Amino acid sequence: MEFQSNLKSKLPKTGTSIFAVMTALANEHGAVNLAQGFPDFSCSTKLIELVNHYMKKGFNQYAPMPGLMSLREKIAIKTEEMYSAKYNPETEITITPGGTHALFTAISAFVEENDEVIVLEPNYDSYVPAIQLNGGRPIFFELKYPDFKVDWNEFKKLINHKTKMIIINSPHNPSGTTLNAQDMLKLQKMVQNTEIIILSDEVYEHIIFDQMEHQSVARFPKLAERSIIVSSFGKTYHTTGWKMGYVIAPTNLTAEFRKVHQFIAFSANTPIQYALSDIIDDKELYLNLNNFYQEKRDYFQKLIKGSRFKILDCQGTYFQLLNYSKITQEKDVDFAARLTKENKIASIPISAFYHKQIDNNVLRFCFAKSNETLEKAAELICKI
Ligand code: PMP
Ligand code: GLN
Repeated sequence: MEFQSNLKSKLPKTGTSIFAVMTALANEHGAVNLAQGFPDFSCSTKLIELVNHYMKKGFNQYAPMPGLMSLREKIAIKTEEMYSAKYNPETEITITPGGTHALFTAISAFVEENDEVIVLEPNYDSYVPAIQLNGGRPIFFELKYPDFKVDWNEFKKLINHKTKMIIINSPHNPSGTTLNAQDMLKLQKMVQNTEIIILSDEVYEHIIFDQMEHQSVARFPKLAERSIIVSSFGKTYHTTGWKMGYVIAPTNLTAEFRKVHQFIAFSANTPIQYALSDIIDDKELYLNLNNFYQEKRDYFQKLIKGSRFKILDCQGTYFQLLNYSKITQEKDVDFAARLTKENKIASIPISAFYHKQIDNNVLRFCFAKSNETLEKAAELICKI
């Protein structure tokens, strides 16, 4: 039974997100799920107690539209300590129901019909539909396998008077690469004297390895003045299911961001904001995350060293790319599905992160897992 048989889709080429697809397949076949990115271990018990505490105390109604002031103030302090950048919590910091919401809101607030938005591929799957829903045109810049480095001379050729926004993401999902200070300076120079807005997806800011420092746009004043930074509490506190994040941007950008945010969500979860505002004082929790995940990366790499997969460089995020061209020439989508069904190990095919489904025979495995899960996964991987 259909109400309109010729219903017009606003996203005719968009299917279900690969993360939803692969997790459903993993569950259906009882596979170890290293596909969708989420930890399989618990968050801090103190954090759970705090949320519980604030719920019981009755903090269960709407939070202020831009977020709880005490949390915003602490984010301002943290941002200054980490990136030497001053932001006003009153007018420049907004708490959101997750990073994905923040990205969508930022794109909706600024992208108009026929505006061009430069996206670096492979890219997180929410950017392009958000651009398209707002009538914008995604302009793709391909990060070349296997280093996924930006050739800024090539990149520059994409910029013109229609360019409204550039979306960057470091540490980068899915490649695990990072933008360094040189990259940021080149970008800064390229956009000076333009009106281009930078949307900087920094949800993995605390997951960067080998003593590298995260190069937030906040560190570069001439970039920061035109940038919207997206952060996610889900990644930092092992609570992806809570869908909590925040956005930092100069006052004029924040004002427009909030105009949209107030009508998409209005505000974010109240008791969790109170709890985060307490837990954020424990700096070790986020300062130690680099080491915590570096150990996981190293352990996972050690466990699968003897496999037939080629391990690619991983500088940040909790994703490890593995090339399988020595095993088969199957399409990555087919191989990932077969591994899930037959070998009981689920991953994400990288072609899903490209608009043209570029396939370099690479799968992404999430190592935000207990050692026990990693051992089980590695055993399966080594048998392939
Ligand atoms: N950006 C990137 C690159 C991500 O990997 C994620 C995590 N799924 C998000 C944004 C969204 O974060 P959240 O889960 O807070 O919506
Ligand atoms: N960021 C996570 C990933 O890349 C999951 C995001 C999602 O499920 N939408 O796997």
